[in-house]
This record gives sequence, structure tokens and C-alpha cells, in this order.
Amino acid sequence: MARFPIRYGVDSDDRIRSVGPEWPVFASENAAADLDPGSVVGRPLWDFIADAETRDLYRLIFDAVRVQGREVTVPFRCDSPECRWYMELAIAPLSDRELSISSQLIREEPREHSALLDTGPGRSDEFVKICSWCKRVLLPPSDWCEVEVAVRRLGLFDSNALPNLTHGVCPDCEVKIGAELERVTDPAGG
Ligand SMILES: [Zn+2]
Repeated sequence: MARFPIRYGVDSDDRIRSVGPEWPVFASENAAADLDPGSVVGRPLWDFIADAETRDLYRLIFDAVRVQGREVTVPFRCDSPECRWYMELAIAPLSDRELSISSQLIREEPREHSALLDTGPGRSDEFVKICSWCKRVLLPPSDWCEVEVAVRRLGLFDSNALPNLTHGVCPDCEVKIGAELERVTDPAGG
């Protein structure tokens, strides 16, 4: 698949140093307004990650990679309305606290078109939260479900206007990524 891996590099201040040709895929996934690779170099990565919870988790990973000088890989999902993409994010240390970041497609699973993931006009004033790592949707107070289940349980098939998506991080993903970071910082581990 030509569009993967998505690669980019950041400098010691988390500013984008370079982007691969697949950058627009990352930018659109993260609801970033600016899709032109030429104009993103030099800007903070954090401009391109919409929600604070996801930014915080990236910062934790970046710290661990820089302090330990070891690569960290974490699985995540990068879904489109027609496809579930099972991905792996690899963050590797370079010299001078720079980092190399790459997202590789592990496998893909076609799905029936999910209008909820199809960003576009015709949205209501409602919001539902989606985990930016596993792409599950929060059914309040604390159930995280696959999009198809959420659509059914929220009765969205019949609704004229779908809710907006707001991104965050679910507790399962926080725990999983925390465990990976612990493994990397443990001198006896991995
Ligand atoms: Zn999650």
C-alpha cells in the first residue's frame, strides 16, 4: 500500500523537521487543517494533534524514548469510514534529542461505510468522544465500543444529523501504553 508507512521527524523542541510524502494522511486523520507538507516543517507537532489527552500521551512516549534512548512501538487504529486500519506507531531516538516517527499498516479490514467517521457537514450540536488510539467510541458513562456498536446503541441510524466527534484517550489505551513505557524504562526488560 503506497500510503504507508507515514514518516516524519521532530527536533528536540518537538518541531517538525521533515515529513514523508504520506504526511497528508496523518494530518487528515488528526483533523489538522494544514495538509500541505511544505508548510508544516518548522511548526510544533502539537499544532497537528487536536486533543489534549492525545498530546499528553505522545509527550510521555517522547520523554521515554529520549531518556532511555530506545525505540517505543505501540499499536493503534487509524480508521477510515470504509476500513479499519490496524497500525503500529514506532518512535525512535536520533542524535541531539531528535525523533523519527513512523506509522506502519499491519493489516486492514474493510467495513460497511460508517457515516459517523465520515467527517463532513450535516452534524448536530451533539458530541461523542472517540479514542484516538483504538477508535472506540465512549457510551457514557464508561463503555468504550466499536463504532458500529456505538451507532446502534446511540440510535444514530435514524438520526438526521450525526453528532460531532471529539478525540480523547480511553483508559485501556492509557494502561497499555503506560505498560509499554514501563517495559522500555525497565533495565531488565525487552
Ligand atoms: Zn482506546
